[in-house]
Amino acid sequence: MSRANRIYTELERMYPEVKSELDYRTHFELLIAVVLSAQTTDVAVNKVTPRLFKNFPDAEALGKAEFSEVHEIIKTIGLSNTKARNIIALSKRLVQEKNGEVPADFDYLISLPGVGRKTANVVLGEAFRIPAIPVDTHVLRVSNRLTLSDSKNPLVVEKDLSALYPKEKWYYLHLRLIHFGRYFCKAQRPKCEECSFTDFCRYFNS
Ligand code: SF4
Repeated sequence: MSRANRIYTELERMYPEVKSELDYRTHFELLIAVVLSAQTTDVAVNKVTPRLFKNFPDAEALGKAEFSEVHEIIKTIGLSNTKARNIIALSKRLVQEKNGEVPADFDYLISLPGVGRKTANVVLGEAFRIPAIPVDTHVLRVSNRLTLSDSKNPLVVEKDLSALYPKEKWYYLHLRLIHFGRYFCKAQRPKCEECSFTDFCRYFNS
């Protein structure tokens, strides 16, 4: 078995059921939650989104919101000023250009305020099950440690992982790498003593 397959098989054994840890009910709520999650934790986002989505349940409502109302609700998360502006502006765009719907269109999504490559890939994979590998800080760190990529550049890591795995595995691979990075192979004090990958891990063998 190749190293890449061995890693996937072990992660699948460790985390048979994986899903996004962001709370959402609609594609619109997913998009907003992912934009809010930049440089903050899913737990922090899940604390503010129930009130945000209760007051502004769709693009039409959020597009008409006042900055101060939105900022007041999301002020506990990082970059709240910029994020409040971005989610109002992107809601306006969705209403004007897409009838308030979130399209399964990577190029359109990355044209929205606050939406980068990682966010667009999460929405495509999570909402539409379109093969995608969003590379966040966990995916990047774990891919480096497990020798799946040599690069610190998220786009290069995305390409390296895409070349190693078939498309049908991409999205769940990303969820499992996140889970592994968040709870096991943490940035500080990873659980190496319990890990199956010590024979080749760069971090363990450095
Ligand atoms: S050996 Fe340690 S650093 Fe390497 S993958 Fe396992 S937990 Fe992470």
